[in-house]
Amino acid sequence: MQRRPVIDGLEFARAGSTWFGAWPASDFPRLRDALHSDEGAIACELRGVPEVRGNPALHLRLNGVLQLTCQRCLEPLAFTVAVDATLLLARSQAQIDAEPFDAEGPEWIVADREMQLHLLVEDELLLALPLAPRHERCAGVRVGARERGRSPFAELREQVRAGRR
Ligand SMILES: [Zn+2]
Repeated sequence: MQRRPVIDGLEFARAGSTWFGAWPASDFPRLRDALHSDEGAIACELRGVPEVRGNPALHLRLNGVLQLTCQRCLEPLAFTVAVDATLLLARSQAQIDAEPFDAEGPEWIVADREMQLHLLVEDELLLALPLAPRHERCAGVRVGARERGRSPFAELREQVRAGRR
């Protein structure tokens, strides 16, 4: 399997192309701060959609399980990833900036002739992971286990969000 696929975003959408693949958790270096271990994998299904609300789009589904760190007991916590996102393709950042802000609407991303799918997926994972994951009930809570402060992971995630504005 091609682990670093590159797509021409607008062409992929226009043609209604599809891509299926999977990556081990260890393939996403920007998630490292959030992961307890490299166990797990993410399956990806990408579909090009010629038109959503008048715009070319990508429909991205991600499924898998990642091992996060519980922020209460610091033990591993299995987190099920279930992303189902529609990404509208803009021709430029200026086009995105000109769109009226719609918090409930689909995300916009800038299309490129060489979009690295792996990086796009990593961005979506950064947005999907909980900032402060906790077990519903921790097994054997260690009294005094300090809750960690602001993690570098949180900052990375804000950078991704900022880049989408
Ligand atoms: Zn816990």
